[in-house]
Amino acid sequence: RKAGLGSWPERRRAMSPGRDALWFEGRTTSHGEFALRVRRAASALAGLGAGPGDRVAWTGGNHPSALETLYACGQLGAIWVPVNARLTAPEVSAVLGDSGASVVVHGRDHGPLADALRQPGVRWVAAEPPVTGGSESLPYEELLAAAQPDTRDVPVELDDPCLIMYTSGTTGKPKGAVLTHGNMTWNAVNQLLGFDFTQHERTLALAPLFHIGGLNGTVNPTLLRGGCAVIVRGFDAAETLRVIEEQRINSFFAVPTMLDAMAREPGFHSRDLSALRTIGAAGAPVPLPTLRTWLDRGVTMQQAYGMTEAAPGCTVLDSADAERKAGSAGKAVFFTSVRVVRPDGDDADVDEVGEVIVRGPNVMAGYWNDPARTAEVLADGWYRTGDAGSLDAEGYLFIRDRYRDMFISGGENVYPAEVESALLALPEVMEAAVIGVPDERWGEVGLAFVVAGSEVDAGALRARLRERLAGFKVPRQFRFVDELPKTATGKVRKPALRALAGVPRE
Ligand code: ATP
Ligand code: MG
Repeated sequence: RKAGLGSWPERRRAMSPGRDALWFEGRTTSHGEFALRVRRAASALAGLGAGPGDRVAWTGGNHPSALETLYACGQLGAIWVPVNARLTAPEVSAVLGDSGASVVVHGRDHGPLADALRQPGVRWVAAEPPVTGGSESLPYEELLAAAQPDTRDVPVELDDPCLIMYTSGTTGKPKGAVLTHGNMTWNAVNQLLGFDFTQHERTLALAPLFHIGGLNGTVNPTLLRGGCAVIVRGFDAAETLRVIEEQRINSFFAVPTMLDAMAREPGFHSRDLSALRTIGAAGAPVPLPTLRTWLDRGVTMQQAYGMTEAAPGCTVLDSADAERKAGSAGKAVFFTSVRVVRPDGDDADVDEVGEVIVRGPNVMAGYWNDPARTAEVLADGWYRTGDAGSLDAEGYLFIRDRYRDMFISGGENVYPAEVESALLALPEVMEAAVIGVPDERWGEVGLAFVVAGSEVDAGALRARLRERLAGFKVPRQFRFVDELPKTATGKVRKPALRALAGVPRE
């Protein structure tokens, strides 16, 4: 029997053909129909020359073609390359060049991108008629209609690459994490064990499918379980609440800012959320007030810590533990181990901060075409996350910050994330980011970049911070700026701030 993601739709077609697999803008696709569409997509991609090991890129707002082409690649042994739909043309070009994609499937808003980047040897396909431009892109639906839904007998093993997903680029150039069919499968198993998905699950595909959380948080596990993914193109707080009510959604994955925005909508209290059982949240801790607001509406929350390289789930904190373990990212998921180590590789003591490392069948094979960087982060199956954290006596993980962003002032470790939260708690501060800069007396001191909402000076901010933080944590220097450099996902790019401050690190 064939292994891997490509076999999932076929098995579901055999086991539960009549159950809903997808819902998108009023149209329901059963698991039986979905499997046939995946087969047609596989034939169509093969017709464009995609074979085992070839890369097929996909970009756009959430759309069934994302999942169809992912599973179709799985059947062909081809490698799916999701590309962040918010990237600029040069950024997309870099990803396409690095991955060497020979086919690119794009959404309706990416006609101009296709026109800008079209070049010989790469076939562009429009998943839907483009709103503007893209007239030379091949129409996806027509390709599928013309393709035979034949089964392809490509041997695919669990260790074979399934997709290359680029990291967010928060700490530098995005890295192409190669996730295997086994990584995808084991992450889904970890999620199924932690989430109580039922075979009638209706999950909302809300976060972008080109990100690992949007794809693997609840969507792929639900499809494996035989449930239905209700796909929405993107996030709008009021519209999301409407769809949750209308589609009787049981679960979804989101980032904390989305949960906050939804909780502030009038519809949060008036909509019928009675079908909604649980939410997966990751990327950052969910603030306790936000969490309590959702709990009051009868919705539990699974807060997770993970990263693209681990497909992504590493630890999870159930909302039952959230008050007692406030600020924790939870405990290791079922088939994954988490340790915290010192620079020499020894385990840190209980509550001692060190680098978080993870091992499990969900951890990537390596970075695409980059053995040097792979060797830096993978050894004996352990992946060095680059995050600073600690484990308490009960095995609960607390994430402090990126290990590389930590700096040492007067012999004391400073975690910028803690200083940034204290700054953000001040009403005058709209946004803030802190880096360590060299200092003759203290070794390093904090430099805070602040986007101020109203008139305020450095002295006042320093005094207010001093009420909440030990002196060594309070930034010595402040720079007031109009905006902070960010990634397409909205994370602050610290390397750009270091460059601004004239203290680049390798
Ligand atoms: P790059 O690796 O390109 O610099 P990135 O690390 O931001 O970008 P992702 O894989 O999208 O790319 O994000 C994973 C990172 O997000 C983790 O390594 C961690 O720093 C942070 N993160 C994820 N979940 C949590 C959480 N629950 N609490 C705190 N931080 C989290
Ligand atoms: Mg990373």
